[in-house]
Amino acid sequence: MIATVKKSNARSSKIPVQGMMENVMEQFYSAADYIDLNNNIRKILAITNNEIVVKFPVRMDNGEVEIFTGYRVQHNNALGPYKGGLRYHPTVDIDAARALAMWMTWKTSLAGLPYGGAKGGIKLNPKLYSKNELERITRRFTYALADNIGPEHDIPAPDVNTNSQTMAWMSDTYMSTRPPAERSANQHVVTGKPAGSGGLEGRDRATGYGVFLTVKLQLEKRGETLEGKRFIVQGFGNVGYWAAHFMENEGAKMVAVQDAQTTLENQDGISVADLFQYTQSNANAIANFIPANEIATEDFFGVDCEVCIPAALGNQITQENADKIKAFVIAEGANGPTNGDAEKILENRGVTIIPDILCNSGGVTASYFEWLQNRNGELWQLDEVMEKLTKKLTESFEKVYKYSQEESISMRKAAFCIAIKRIEMAYTQRGIFP
Ligand code: GLU
Repeated sequence: MIATVKKSNARSSKIPVQGMMENVMEQFYSAADYIDLNNNIRKILAITNNEIVVKFPVRMDNGEVEIFTGYRVQHNNALGPYKGGLRYHPTVDIDAARALAMWMTWKTSLAGLPYGGAKGGIKLNPKLYSKNELERITRRFTYALADNIGPEHDIPAPDVNTNSQTMAWMSDTYMSTRPPAERSANQHVVTGKPAGSGGLEGRDRATGYGVFLTVKLQLEKRGETLEGKRFIVQGFGNVGYWAAHFMENEGAKMVAVQDAQTTLENQDGISVADLFQYTQSNANAIANFIPANEIATEDFFGVDCEVCIPAALGNQITQENADKIKAFVIAEGANGPTNGDAEKILENRGVTIIPDILCNSGGVTASYFEWLQNRNGELWQLDEVMEKLTKKLTESFEKVYKYSQEESISMRKAAFCIAIKRIEMAYTQRGIFP
């Protein structure tokens, strides 16, 4: 179904938001059928454990009070505390939070982390608020969530339109509401904090690095390298930028990039470093960057390239544009960017999709390192982080690749099967209370 949202909030006037839940359920059931998942465990994993919706008032700069709606959906915690990001976006609603929470459960399980899955956020367009307002909104949201989050219970992190600053406000608010002697012990209530405030060196680039690394590993399986490969990136936020940065460093060429307002193309290559620098003094937008040509939004996915990196929102690759895609590898930096109908078209055409729960798992993996660092009172160095991240992501990639080859199934189905089996094992071992 297509929902129309306010123009100022929208990527285009039509954003298909309601398909994400259908997508994640279809992906789950298809893998569950394949591995013949125990029927009782299937019932448990098909629902979300807890759904928290909070409404809270915040004073705006002009003195008026605005009411906001925030969400936190906790899907499953069989493997450990709930884990997943918070996004600030007009498309955030209970369905989106549910779908994204489910993806987190599969992602953390596949990555071999001791976490479950959760997701949430606030339905708003952050561009419409000042930095002071965003700080008050974030702090009041954290206060409203209260003990529904916690360092050993549910650990939020950045996602779309939230960043290390958001996490610094959250951890400070949460810690400030604890008894004095417990404050420092609660720093790991969120991950993705700034490096000076308990954050992990390298957490900023971890998701984009993982996207790049999985593309590199995928190409290696075909006997190819990134040298001279053309790629397109949807979204030039944290994930899109860092993925493009690492791709370019390895000799690939960015030939198109899209943000919420603008689509740019240049077959001679768009410098990632120059574009990033430009966006820093252009309200984070890519608009009017030269040298590149602006093209129509709907022409983005049809740009000639070898690798396509959706790194923005869900449901961007649909039956309407899947046929146009020229890339032979799609690397899902975003969560749920490809819907089920598009996936069938792409599979028939022999396009490889590196699934989100593998491709963008560098972020939550680095979050786990940050959580350990805080818990153990350690400070990790960047090279140590990148080395550990590379090792973990390579292991996950190899596991998924091997299973998909052995079973002749897609990388997505293989990733889901591995993730679900790990949770099934936990339930089988311990049974259901009482
Ligand atoms: N929001 C990121 C994701 O979708 C990171 C989650 C985390 O670090 O907990 O994977």
